[in-house]
Amino acid sequence: MTARAPYACDAAHSRGRRIAEPASPARSEFQRDRDRVVHSTAFRRLVYKTQVFVNHEGDLFRTRLTHSLEVAQIGRSIARSLALDEDLVEAIALAHDLGHTPFGHAGQDALDACMKRHGGFEHNLQSLRVVDQLEQRYGAFDGLNLTFETREGILKRCSRAMAQRIEAKEPGGVAHRFVVGGQPSLEAQLCNLADEIAYAAHDIDDGVRSGLLAPEQLGTLPLVARHRDAALSQFPGLDDRAPRRLLAETLRRMLSAQVGDVVETTRTALATHAPHDANSIRAAPPLVAFSQTGRVEAAALKRVLFTSLYRHPQVERTTARAREVLHTLFEAYQGAPAELPLDHRTSLDRRGPRALADYIAGMTDRFAAREFQRLTGARAFDAD
Ligand code: MG
Repeated sequence: MTARAPYACDAAHSRGRRIAEPASPARSEFQRDRDRVVHSTAFRRLVYKTQVFVNHEGDLFRTRLTHSLEVAQIGRSIARSLALDEDLVEAIALAHDLGHTPFGHAGQDALDACMKRHGGFEHNLQSLRVVDQLEQRYGAFDGLNLTFETREGILKRCSRAMAQRIEAKEPGGVAHRFVVGGQPSLEAQLCNLADEIAYAAHDIDDGVRSGLLAPEQLGTLPLVARHRDAALSQFPGLDDRAPRRLLAETLRRMLSAQVGDVVETTRTALATHAPHDANSIRAAPPLVAFSQTGRVEAAALKRVLFTSLYRHPQVERTTARAREVLHTLFEAYQGAPAELPLDHRTSLDRRGPRALADYIAGMTDRFAAREFQRLTGARAFDAD
């Protein structure tokens, strides 16, 4: 393994856990974080949570779990090239979507609306709540008691008002940078970019597989066209014989090129700014980045995904129904708390609507759909 760069996070100099624990004889603090995430209940649930397509729509589409694994894979590749801490990257990547509701962004929007008068709902904050409070696996504390560095990486976005609330409870903590301005670690920065790279590539793949996205719609994008041409010149005739293989060959090249672009651009930025340690990253501008061209091309790709896939009438029909399902669940439990499992009923008494949001956010797609049917007698979604 290459030596860690001086500006990489170092587990031996972690800012630590909220509750001090003795060091592990065999594993670094970031390895332990990664392992705690992998063994968490919320992580296992990701397998039945929507990325873009609702879980029952097909077995081959990405779920939150496979998305998180792809983010970790891309993140680790970049981390290794830049001599950053791979374990920290993996811990952040695997945990970054733990707070997602069932049914993807539609679920988040619905819960946010239900919680409007109670502080709202946002999935990044919820991911932090999961690892800080909601997991119940330890005798000594709630949550997973992860290190500052992993927790900071998980909180990738935060409104100023919310940051001030977190800061009041945890001065100088994970929300501090949103109050004073400043960057998180390079490992956290690269997880954000790995997330974008991963979802753009796999949403193209799933979009085409579903038939909602026509390969011709992508042909107009230089980023896709370039790698498609390269694949075709190596394997002529693939477009007629094996379009799925051609798409895979195209996306494979596109991913490698995007990772290469980020590594090169970041190397140059690091050479220019010459941060001497992990702390000086905070005052520097964001250093993990695409090149100018890479950024423009990635943005164009996202635009096509938005207009052609995420806003596709069929996807919109499902997401509109998903919002309805979660709204109905929230109101049904609020009106009849006896329908909740005992421990969640107790939490509702103690903590009010936030407990309900936590319960619903933790559900898998199919559990939410089953609960909807149990409480209303109606099916959440048509069978196909
Ligand atoms: Mg993600």
